[in-house]
Amino acid sequence: MKLNIAIDGPSASGKSTIAKALAKRLNYTHLDTGAMYRACAYKALKNGINTDIEDDLVKMVNSSHFAFDDLGQILLDGVNISSDIRSKEIDLLTSKIARYAQVRASLVKIQQFMAKNKGYILDGRDIGTVVLPDAEVKIFQTASIESRAKRRLLDYQNKGIKIDYQTIYNEIELRDYQDQNREHSPLRKTDNAFVLDTSNLSINESVDIVYDLVIKKINEGSD
Ligand code: C5P
Repeated sequence: MKLNIAIDGPSASGKSTIAKALAKRLNYTHLDTGAMYRACAYKALKNGINTDIEDDLVKMVNSSHFAFDDLGQILLDGVNISSDIRSKEIDLLTSKIARYAQVRASLVKIQQFMAKNKGYILDGRDIGTVVLPDAEVKIFQTASIESRAKRRLLDYQNKGIKIDYQTIYNEIELRDYQDQNREHSPLRKTDNAFVLDTSNLSINESVDIVYDLVIKKINEGSD
């Protein structure tokens, strides 16, 4: 028996890392919905689409093709753009684009179609609330801003990008504010979501906790 798993939470809380590892362990498919919003920002920027005009963005989304390869990397119109969508410029443009109701509606439809069967792990901001409200396991993954900023700093340093801690801290704080206070589908924990605070947990410890929850749920279902 397979389930669907929703993982929501703020930026840089490690959702995709946990989702990816969990998908491997359970032999499920992981869809990183944040990467889809990022892909839209990337395409708009690349094609000179005015991100102040929602209709133009919606047309762009509806004429785009989104897929994930076996490693969980995003393919936009058949091209792997996973390394192009992780920059500060794309971070901020993505949060702007993600505010538009019609852009969201188009992406949600695509995500629901991609995960119409069981055995999917989706991570994002609105998975438990909007995309997969019937997901059998819902996780709200969070971590302190300090620990998220420290992890991001390490990511940047590993990529050879020079940036200071305070700048990252301020950007995470700003994105939290934008994601939690936007009008459409703001980041919210559902009542039935399990809160996973990863501030003091390793990746393996976090994956173990969610894995145990999933196995418990599967066993309950087969009783
Ligand atoms: O998860 P990640 O940080 O890659 O997501 C990038 C941005 O996309 C978020 O800051 C958020 O604004 C938006 N997003 C969203 N809904 C989702 C996934 C991401 O609004 N389901």
